[in-house]
Amino acid sequence: MNKKTLKKRTLKLINDAIKLAEEGNLELARKYIMLAREYSNKGRFKIPLEYKRKFCRKCLTPLIPGKTERIRIKSKILVRSCLICGWIRRYDLRKNKENKSGTSDN
Ligand SMILES: [Zn+2]
Repeated sequence: MNKKTLKKRTLKLINDAIKLAEEGNLELARKYIMLAREYSNKGRFKIPLEYKRKFCRKCLTPLIPGKTERIRIKSKILVRSCLICGWIRRYDLRKNKENKSGTSDN
């Protein structure tokens, strides 16, 4: 499989995982994310940031606001927490305006 195909499949896997999570099938959704990460390792490409943000970095559950994820904004800091494993990620909304590189995500 070439890199382009692999990448396309990876992104599709993540989208499918989100759909599964929305339907409540978290177990399978996690497996899809795991597979997507395997593909990215194998193909040596990075999962785009906007896709990376769609799932929990720790337990790999797709983050669905109100279902598997809680979003709070505290004095211009966006706080996202995974309801499955308790993983918390903070995004400084002020910083993001000036710096869109998102390096803090890696
Ligand atoms: Zn989690």
